[in-house]
Amino acid sequence: MLKGSKLYSIFTGTCPVCQSESMYVSSNPYNLSKATAMNERCSHCNTKYKIEPSFFYGAMYVSYGLGVAIAVAAFIITYSFLSLDKLTAFFVILGSLVVLMPINLRLSRNIWINMFMSYDKEKAKDA
Ligand SMILES: [Zn+2]
Repeated sequence: MLKGSKLYSIFTGTCPVCQSESMYVSSNPYNLSKATAMNERCSHCNTKYKIEPSFFYGAMYVSYGLGVAIAVAAFIITYSFLSLDKLTAFFVILGSLVVLMPINLRLSRNIWINMFMSYDKEKAKDA
């Protein structure tokens, strides 16, 4: 449906170029031992994911931004909507950050790689 847009690759973790297959070895981010395990290349379009050594260190900046967004969202929900006190809100924020960590980790990698690569219709076609 959203195929061809960067959002599709970001939310599904598929190859940023052809969006035909997952970049990750395990599709489940909560499979913690494999959370960051990625295939080296896309078997469909042969895109190398790790453009350069330690390419994904840059994803930490994205991860930081996502973390702040999660914290703000958790705070608004607990403090404003549920009217809980600040201490409870604090623990809910910590909890959300920990629980959502694997998702944050992958989303930030997906966003990061999509900042450098774009969908290519031609490469997506030839199977
Ligand atoms: Zn590909």
